[in-house]
Amino acid sequence: MNTADLLRTLGIDPAALDPAPPQAPYRGTSLVRIDGSHPCARCGLPARATRVVDVPGLGRRWLDTCRDDFLAASRLWPSRMPSTMEGIVADLRAAAAEAGADLRILTDDGMAG
Ligand SMILES: [Zn+2]
Repeated sequence: MNTADLLRTLGIDPAALDPAPPQAPYRGTSLVRIDGSHPCARCGLPARATRVVDVPGLGRRWLDTCRDDFLAASRLWPSRMPSTMEGIVADLRAAAAEAGADLRILTDDGMAG
């Protein structure tokens, strides 16, 4: 499901979402924004979660959601998180390579890092 489909399924008007900055906050979220001053894009309750979404034709926008609508969106959005140890290690290696840092992973289950 892409962003436009997700917003349409949730009944959220993409044009009503606040523009987001051009730089991506860490993993698309910002703790500063979830101080209760922004309403949920779906129901209007104070937002408890936010993320940056790239809306076709509109660019980067904040998707502020309350807890329940965060969970509703999360169920519709494919997870980008690794679900296996190998996936987690691959993500760590990619992040270390991107940062130009040496990486040595030590685990207690005997898996080579
Ligand atoms: Zn809500």
